[in-house]
Amino acid sequence: NVRVRFAPSPTGPLHIGGVRTALFNYLFAKKHGGNFVLRIEDTDQNRYVQGAEDYVVKALNWCGIPFDEGPGKNEKFGPYRQSERKHLYRKYADELVANGKAYYAFDTPDQLDSHRRDHEAHGKTFTYNWHNREKGRLVNSLVLSDEETQVKIKSGEDYVIRFKSPQDQTLQLKDIIRGNITIDTNVLDDKVLFKSDGMPTYHLANIVDDHLMEISHVIRGEEWLPSLALHQLLYDAFGWEAPKFAHLPLILKPTGKGKLSKRDGDKLGFPVFPLQWKDPKTNAISRGYKEDGYFPGALVNFLAFLGWNPGTEQEIFSLEELVNAFDLNKVNKAGARFDPDKTKWFNHHYMQEQSDSELAVLFKKSKPELAPFDINYIQLVVALIKERATFVSDFWDLSHYFFFAPEGYNEKAAKKAWKEGTDDLMRELVAVIENTDANSAESLRVAIKEWIAFKDIGFGKVMMPLRLALVGALQGPDVFDIMFMVGKDESIKRIEIAIE
Ligand code: GLU
Repeated sequence: NVRVRFAPSPTGPLHIGGVRTALFNYLFAKKHGGNFVLRIEDTDQNRYVQGAEDYVVKALNWCGIPFDEGPGKNEKFGPYRQSERKHLYRKYADELVANGKAYYAFDTPDQLDSHRRDHEAHGKTFTYNWHNREKGRLVNSLVLSDEETQVKIKSGEDYVIRFKSPQDQTLQLKDIIRGNITIDTNVLDDKVLFKSDGMPTYHLANIVDDHLMEISHVIRGEEWLPSLALHQLLYDAFGWEAPKFAHLPLILKPTGKGKLSKRDGDKLGFPVFPLQWKDPKTNAISRGYKEDGYFPGALVNFLAFLGWNPGTEQEIFSLEELVNAFDLNKVNKAGARFDPDKTKWFNHHYMQEQSDSELAVLFKKSKPELAPFDINYIQLVVALIKERATFVSDFWDLSHYFFFAPEGYNEKAAKKAWKEGTDDLMRELVAVIENTDANSAESLRVAIKEWIAFKDIGFGKVMMPLRLALVGALQGPDVFDIMFMVGKDESIKRIEIAIE
């Protein structure tokens, strides 16, 4: 029974790395007919940011990867916010203390600091574990008797509960993506499990909740790999079966050097958030894929390839196809380079698969100038230009001349297209058009081509100035399509304006 979870801490907007983690969890769950759980890990009240949870939910919904269970939804294993499960964790910490697998520690922040500085002065990193405990250098229960410990607690002294890392053991850890990992327990910290403010730390709450929520697979970012040993030890200490683990590769900056950060986006001019985010403190706005005009399917397709590939040539996948093709065993260990241009490429491809009628609605909504135009007409325009567009916001530049006569002519284009004799040629062309039943682009094409052949002149001599008159530039779709769309009268009008 596959049950996976996405467990963000609400410390800010969900960035692209978080969405990738959520997506891989979603794909894995759906592939195996399991449940995708959202759990909000908000035990660190100092880092709590207003609006962050709401943002996560909206972002997952927009991406089309909603959770099956979570706050306010199908709460079988709820509550799903750790702050609402607060009462639950203490007894697990106590259980470990009672079994001798955890202990009270009374070090003050100052004492810890001085230990740290002491070590650094000798060029060493300070590790709070049995090495130091045994030397009696720390004030904690291992050098205090049970009675002394109780006296300190009763007198109201601040304490934490720390996990007692085992001595001289070699751990064999397993990761689906990385294979076997060997860890010497002597290098581990005695991590804090429970704090004096009555809250569990991430490590304790995370393990307890994964157990109680019957999570079968933990799929998360590589930054959590260093915690794997402690987590495995905690499962063992409780006598619980651990879930299977898969640590996803880092997402690297576009240059391939270093981890992609939330700051890279605005700095380098591309979004790193699915939706735009307004910082509640500074009111600064960071860009989002949605507002930049990306289709959620394109973003999801792009993210799926950050660390995974199907092992075939296929790159364009619908969400359903991703579910079918996804395989944790095909996820790479190596960091995945983030290429913002590739998102554009995906968006362009998704654009081609959207229906013209849906795109027409989006286009019309985005441009007040289009209000007077019939949606069916807009739809026909979209069909002609979308091949050249990456975003709906590109449509206007590619198509304004279907709606309004050009307001001017591109200077270079005009020089190239309008030569000696062009005026006369265009006057003749007007007569040809007048005498043609313009009931299709085809009939215009046949009539004009026949006339050009009859005159025995180069095609470009007519087509370039004609395009210039209609469009104002030398780009755009087929000239006869344009003429047919704007109509015979309007076409003639535009040619006559160009002659003047
Ligand atoms: N709350 C952790 C985070 O913010 C969850 C890590 C995990 O999945 O275990 O990423």
